[in-house]
Amino acid sequence: MSQNPTATAGTSATELAGFEGLHNQELLGRYNQSLMGVFGTPQRVLVRGSGCTVWDADGKEYLDLLGGIAVNALGHAHPLLTSVVSSQLATLGHVSNFFTSPSQIALAEKLLGLSAAPAGSKVFFANSGTEALEAAFKLARRHGNNDAGGKRGRILALENAFHGRTMGALALTWKQAYREPFEPLPGGVEHIPAGDADALRAAVDETVAAVFIEPIQGEAGVRGYPAGYLELARELTREAGALLVFDEVQTGVGRTGKWFASEGVLPDAMTLAKGLGGGFPIGAMITFGPDVSTLLGTGQHGTTFGGNPVATAAALATLHTIESQQLLVHVRQTGQAIREALSGLDFVTEVRGEGLLIGFDLAAEAAPALVQRALDAGFIVNSTGPATVRLAPPLIVTAEQVQRFVDALPELYAAATKEEK
Ligand SMILES: *Cc1c(COP(=O)(O)O)cnc(C)c1O
Repeated sequence: MSQNPTATAGTSATELAGFEGLHNQELLGRYNQSLMGVFGTPQRVLVRGSGCTVWDADGKEYLDLLGGIAVNALGHAHPLLTSVVSSQLATLGHVSNFFTSPSQIALAEKLLGLSAAPAGSKVFFANSGTEALEAAFKLARRHGNNDAGGKRGRILALENAFHGRTMGALALTWKQAYREPFEPLPGGVEHIPAGDADALRAAVDETVAAVFIEPIQGEAGVRGYPAGYLELARELTREAGALLVFDEVQTGVGRTGKWFASEGVLPDAMTLAKGLGGGFPIGAMITFGPDVSTLLGTGQHGTTFGGNPVATAAALATLHTIESQQLLVHVRQTGQAIREALSGLDFVTEVRGEGLLIGFDLAAEAAPALVQRALDAGFIVNSTGPATVRLAPPLIVTAEQVQRFVDALPELYAAATKEEK
């Protein structure tokens, strides 16, 4: 491999690649030649971002109302996040888990504080949501194998749940199309109807090792549960001696206007990822209390990259900014304003969600077409189903910015439904 002889500090990856001046079409053609097709053809090639705005390789500007799927909590190129990550990388980038670093310890302490974890609680760092779920799955198995002579073989998850794409997380995920091509998956997982108190009561007993619940089902279209459901899950799992795992990968870290959507109900384990690093890959599992925190013993789990200095520094900068800019209040207020504005549209049949995790249903099954029209009009949003649109903008988005999208919606919807016919 020859190196670009002119590359110096400050050289961009685009320059290193010799890609300057290349536009969407040519780059997407090259993408299709070299990248595995699991994502289909991407919509655009994005080259730059600032706040809630991103630009593609043709210079077109977009308002980003998806935030990398609930990831870019602070928007794009946030000054503090950029500076903390750059300075950490310039100081110490990676050390392996034979060592630790101040930022790793500080982040663990911070997360334990924010989650109101009791004494003896602990944190395990991973690099993604699915890895955080794998850790929780192993935790559940250890609990099942420890207790009652190995009789706790069952793990419960909810219908329509999404927990990730690796084998353990996939076993917890509901969608058959994701699962079936990869069977056999780790056994023992059963799915029960989401939000159904009677189904939960009937399923949770002494043979259950753990119950996995997203406090709001994100990929299912931003769907919560009847009031008291999480509390009931807590009560039933406690009585049965099963672990309660809240998957807050999408809902955590301020997304819903609270640090965690499950606030007020303490689980045995909580998984985090998406928004935690403000765009830098990091996942985490928090275990609550000493018993569950010692289930995975020395040598029983691990990762090379997990908890590295740069990722944990990114998360520290993200949490610090959410706190210092009082973003939780902003998220609650902005989310409320958006939901009200959406509810006022006659073709919107239902608006769901909390804070800045919002799902809304259209009268017609035109969501994918609407997403395409929105993109052409300069708005990045996403559909989770034929009639459902999801918004998960940066937590710094303003009500005025989202109003621009709401104002454009009637025309986008009209065009999308015309296209359907
Ligand atoms: C996105 C998501 C995951 C998987 O996270 P990845 O980082 O994509 O592996 C797991 N659980 C929930 C609730 C998610 O939304």
